[in-house]
Amino acid sequence: MYLTTALLCTSPLFLGAFSALLFGRRGIPSTIPTGLLFHSVLPKPGLEMSHVSLRRFERFCSMLSERQFTSLTVSGTLSADSHSSSSGNRCMLTFDDGFQSVATIAAPVLQRYNLKATVFCLGNHFGTLSQWDIFSGNTHLTKQEIRTLFNMGHEIGSHSLTHAYLPFLDTKSVRTELADSKNILEDIIGNAVTSLSFPYGGWTPAIWEIAQETGYTAATLYRGHSRAGRGLFPVYGVYQYDTPGDMLSKCTDRASFSLLRARSRMMAHFARGTPVWKYRRAYHS
Ligand SMILES: [Zn+2]
Repeated sequence: MYLTTALLCTSPLFLGAFSALLFGRRGIPSTIPTGLLFHSVLPKPGLEMSHVSLRRFERFCSMLSERQFTSLTVSGTLSADSHSSSSGNRCMLTFDDGFQSVATIAAPVLQRYNLKATVFCLGNHFGTLSQWDIFSGNTHLTKQEIRTLFNMGHEIGSHSLTHAYLPFLDTKSVRTELADSKNILEDIIGNAVTSLSFPYGGWTPAIWEIAQETGYTAATLYRGHSRAGRGLFPVYGVYQYDTPGDMLSKCTDRASFSLLRARSRMMAHFARGTPVWKYRRAYHS
């Protein structure tokens, strides 16, 4: 009896149903490529969950290289035949928030293994301390560092102007966040910026409509994976507890359910900032 219950509770079917109930999400169609979302890579990560150690990041990159993976940027994934089932051995690496450690620590490793990433930067935070990653003292990339990353072959995408939670803004403000950040970043790199990452993973189909009207052609989805589709690519957060093997599984596992992905979704659900925004909404309503 106990054994049967235990088996039932740990079976993929049960966990899949539990995950669907908890998050209200269906599985991602296997033909849609998924990616990884990093924030910081640091030699000695602090307490922040979204920091990944340099040692693990380096090992993960070497695993991609050993297995002859091609890393695609977000716009590269879009222009490749992303809906074909032959998307094996491809990995989409992304960095949110445009932190300086991407240029100083992660980029040399990526270069060593010939990997390309998409770095999502803010439109009005350059070389300053992060206002939301407040416990770790992370600094944003300078304009010159953004230019250098672009010249190394990485894609520069937008993460909005001010890192606002877009679903709480009116249409005009959403348009400003998306259009102004795009224009500012385009001026910096002298090239089109067409990929977007929604701050805090907050988006709605109406916001994606505005983004497309503003000139974006692709976006990463940290939340709302079940609505992934053409130009909307699910990404799984990478956290301090993830081993290099976990990172590889997150971007390659085609199973409809895995504990790793469920854990990432749970982390996304309770990601930092979320309670603050929920409180603000309750406060203003
Ligand atoms: Zn962010």
